[in-house]
Amino acid sequence: MSAFKNPQPNALEAVLLDALDSRRAASKGTFGFHGYLVDAPGFDAETFARLIKRALDEGVCLTPSARPGEFRAMRPSSPMTYHTTPTRCTCWAGQLGRPCKHRALACLLLAVTGTPSRGP
Ligand SMILES: [Zn+2]
Repeated sequence: MSAFKNPQPNALEAVLLDALDSRRAASKGTFGFHGYLVDAPGFDAETFARLIKRALDEGVCLTPSARPGEFRAMRPSSPMTYHTTPTRCTCWAGQLGRPCKHRALACLLLAVTGTPSRGP
């Protein structure tokens, strides 16, 4: 009976698995950015690039804190300071679990300095 098996379900399954794989790859958040391999959990490449541009346009700067991989993020036009890591940020977007410009910048800084942004 297997000779009469309809090939369509397998083809559909392959398409669905491909879609799932690409979504998994996106959620892993590892991609190239201007020659650096960036590990940015929860970001896709497009969002990352957009948020880096915004951070640079707004003059966001990061200062390392006492803990490795943790930064204080601030910008000249704002009195606010946020605590930022590649996976967490105390800004409003970060508290909602959304990718933010501070986290993007932290991920880029760690990529540029060759520091892993997540533990084993
Ligand atoms: Zn933030």
